[in-house]
Amino acid sequence: MKKIIIILGLFFIIILGIVFFKTLLFTSKQSSAKPISPEKLDTDSISERLASAIRFQTVSSQDTLPNEKEFLGFHAFLEKSFPLLHKTLTKEVVNKYSLLYTWKGNDPNLKPILLMGHIDVVPAENESKWEHLPFAGAIADGYIWGRGSLDDKSAVMGVLEATEHLLKSGFSPKRTIYLSFGHDEETTGKKGAFKAAALLKERNIEFEFIQDEGMFIADGYVPGVPKPVAIVGMAQKGYVTVELIVEDTGGHSSSPPSNTAVGILSKAIVRLEENPIKGGLDGIIGDMFDSLGPEMSLPMKLIFANRWLFGGLIEKQLSESPGTNANLRTTTAATMFHGSDKENVLPQKARALVNFRIHPRDDIQKVLDHVKQVVNDSRVKVDYLKNSAEEPSPVSPINSPSYEMFTKTIKEVFPDVLIAPGLFIAGSDTQKFISFSKNIYRFHPLYFQKSNNDEKRMHGTNERISVRNYEDFVRFYIQLIRNSSNFTL
Ligand SMILES: [Zn+2]
Repeated sequence: MKKIIIILGLFFIIILGIVFFKTLLFTSKQSSAKPISPEKLDTDSISERLASAIRFQTVSSQDTLPNEKEFLGFHAFLEKSFPLLHKTLTKEVVNKYSLLYTWKGNDPNLKPILLMGHIDVVPAENESKWEHLPFAGAIADGYIWGRGSLDDKSAVMGVLEATEHLLKSGFSPKRTIYLSFGHDEETTGKKGAFKAAALLKERNIEFEFIQDEGMFIADGYVPGVPKPVAIVGMAQKGYVTVELIVEDTGGHSSSPPSNTAVGILSKAIVRLEENPIKGGLDGIIGDMFDSLGPEMSLPMKLIFANRWLFGGLIEKQLSESPGTNANLRTTTAATMFHGSDKENVLPQKARALVNFRIHPRDDIQKVLDHVKQVVNDSRVKVDYLKNSAEEPSPVSPINSPSYEMFTKTIKEVFPDVLIAPGLFIAGSDTQKFISFSKNIYRFHPLYFQKSNNDEKRMHGTNERISVRNYEDFVRFYIQLIRNSSNFTL
């Protein structure tokens, strides 16, 4: 007995030793870049130009064609607003409404970069709930208000402002810079970014890195982290909608079988909900913990430094909230269900759709195999909607000169934030460009405060960006263009 106690005691001491040792080695991986003095900008003019951009109702909707007057009016507005840029860069109009600019670099041996954004916006509903009308382009209380102020006219205008500013200062890039602005990102991107990608493919272009919308500077969103976190989306989830069909003979509902097609299908759905696809703390989320964990205070730091011991606990905790759960695994969402068309008629066919957002460790085939294995019922036919299916993107490496340069740029302009790689769980136009570069960063320096519900303003009501944030947004692009021109591989 005594021997067992001694062995157990020794075992406990060894474990404790490893835990403390690992915590000691868990040191900061944050960029050590020093802040730069803020670039002098004409705040009123850049804010007014963004407000004017918002006034063009470049709305994308599933069922209507783009409004020619608004889109072409926006093009003309850009020409007028950025004269030097339009004199220096090559502009191509892609499929009538998308724009592709080329800023030729001095050194043809350097790989070019691609900065992306989109011109279109989602419609604005509930106009009466907006503090300022969605397309009025109001500037009030230190904010620029309106649809597109966050998503994504701030990016389009921000990068154009930066380019014009740099041109005025006499800057010319070593590396060629492409600017691509699609016009249908909010629907499919198939008419805009997709066509621009096809055009660039013909020219055999490979990019050093690509930057587009995605993640943001999150203040108060990451528990246990005392500072705002700039999360750089290193990968994007895939997408597949699985179709489940049960066919039956139908008939009158007065003499039903014990299971109708609806009942059989319902069981399949319940099984899928109860058996989610396996998640984990590997990959991007692990890299995120490695970046943020050392910045946390005890005991959080100790826990994240010892995921070999506490991994199960962390995973359980994170799985409980939909937002964090989506970062760990391929998610399952039963979204549509259809049985008989009449209350007293047995369904001859029941159909359900289940939408999966695919984690980079999985793929479409794995999802289908999982569904078949879990449903395990030959009466349920499993297929998927091929038109909307998309594999997850590859994961951009964190150990690359591009990423180092990118995070250095963030730190130089936003010295008070921490930086971490993250997974983008929604969609962006970068999916059309994944074959062009292994370094794709889905990040805009939009400052979102949880206490203000800022993330809900995107696609929601009262979308707005603070004037201060927008100034830094432009500064970020100025610095990104400078740094990407200068850095060598
Ligand atoms: Zn967007």
